[in-house]
Amino acid sequence: MSADCIFFRIISGEVPGDFVYTDEEMIAFRDINPVASTHILLVPREHIASVQDLRPGQENLMGRIIFRARELAEQEGIASRGYRLVVNCGPEGGQVVPHLHVHLIGGRRLNDKMG
Ligand code: 5GP
Repeated sequence: MSADCIFFRIISGEVPGDFVYTDEEMIAFRDINPVASTHILLVPREHIASVQDLRPGQENLMGRIIFRARELAEQEGIASRGYRLVVNCGPEGGQVVPHLHVHLIGGRRLNDKMG
């Protein structure tokens, strides 16, 4: 856990977020630099640096985050058209913020590029 981490600061309330969902386990808020009309970040409150830092016992956390992304896609009105869930991991995976998060992106046809 680090006060330098922007998501830690959003979770702690020090930095405001445009929240679309919160519970005791996770928060979801709009990305500050959206790449589509819907671009939401789903973030566990517990500090987990990346997918690579998940420990045994945390498998279901990721399942619940993905299930919540599904619900948010419905709420955003993009579920039937389709959307993309992205989890960047580590420097070569394009992860910039060192706190695990899932991107929910949709509202336009996304390109086919996977990197
Ligand atoms: P990553 O590249 O680590 O997978 O994604 C980090 C995401 O966090 C980026 O899409 C970036 O726009 C977003 N982001 C970075 N700083 C902030 C912030 O202060 N507020 C919000 N809402 N999003 C942020």
